[in-house]
Amino acid sequence: MKRVLVNGAGGFIGGHLVKRLKAEGCWVRGVDIKRHEYVTPPADEFIVGDLRDPRFVESVVDGVEDVYQLAADMGGAGYIFTGEHDAVVMHNSATINLNTLESAVKAGVKRIFYSSSACIYPEYNQMDPDNPKCSEESAYPAAPDSEYGWEKLFSERLYLSYMRNYGIQVRVARFHNIFGIEGTWTGGREKAPAALCRKVAEAPEGGTIEIWGDGKQTRSFLYIDECLEAVRRLVESDFTGPVNIGSEEMVSINQLARMIMEIADKRVTIRNIPGPTGVRGRNSDNKLIQQRLGWAPSKPLRDGLEKTYRWISAQVEAHKHEPAAAAH
Ligand code: NAD
Repeated sequence: MKRVLVNGAGGFIGGHLVKRLKAEGCWVRGVDIKRHEYVTPPADEFIVGDLRDPRFVESVVDGVEDVYQLAADMGGAGYIFTGEHDAVVMHNSATINLNTLESAVKAGVKRIFYSSSACIYPEYNQMDPDNPKCSEESAYPAAPDSEYGWEKLFSERLYLSYMRNYGIQVRVARFHNIFGIEGTWTGGREKAPAALCRKVAEAPEGGTIEIWGDGKQTRSFLYIDECLEAVRRLVESDFTGPVNIGSEEMVSINQLARMIMEIADKRVTIRNIPGPTGVRGRNSDNKLIQQRLGWAPSKPLRDGLEKTYRWISAQVEAHKHEPAAAAH
């Protein structure tokens, strides 16, 4: 039975990954600074601790063959694009990555997967909402629009350096807006699909929801199950990456909101207000992953949104009578 460590198992993607690896028959140790908020991931062992502490990291990499390093100081636009959290984001995530790699090499870990982000792509290629460029080789000359993106780029290079110099097998993916059930939907760190599902679920019929920016900024969104299929194919392949894992179904944020309203069968007016938005346009470019791993998303955006809306509207309903939770 393969022994695997998932860092960030108390988070959105990590929680789902634990489930997937268990279903594949692995023995899984999950680690996070907090327990999962919505479910109990079925890990064989779940250890709560701080991956910024090198001694803690040494203890958790012990005895595993593969590591999935997903832990990061993370959030949606309201967390990473305001500038207020730049120092902690860079310090926390870089420290986690430095510790994890160093301990993994010392412990003789065979393979390590690292989740980078579409946020590493240069701002200058993402000014036109209709024609963003995010092919893997376009990452340089580097000019990410956030410190979160710069840290991811630094860490990609760190992982590749450790592979070059110490021989540990590394796999690097650049995730493009992964969404789905059992992820943050309130509190300030939620991303656009979850935030919009919540706003539509909370709005009365004929009410109004607010959207940051003019809503014409474009993005693509990939459902969690599709993402994990791509991650597993990458890890089992001999391809190091970095490679995009995302969807090429690009929509504007206003279109995304309208799609959610259709799913909810609710008529709501959109009010576009000033707020942090990130780049004007972003879309995954899946040529490389298609060519190397034969992977492409199998279902349209709407499918995943339906599941996510159902889950978030149930959360909204369940929290209606709890003023503290609903106040976020
Ligand atoms: P998430 O915030 O739900 O999960 C990250 C987890 O890391 C959290 O549970 C958090 O508690 C944990 N963590 C943070 N600091 C820690 C520490 N010091 N010690 C131990 N655990 C710590 O985010 P997610 O959406 O599941 O993202 C997982 C990874 O994928 C992250 O590295 C993120 O940057 C990357 N990524 C995600 C997306 C996306 O759309 N969700 C896009 C691009 C990249």
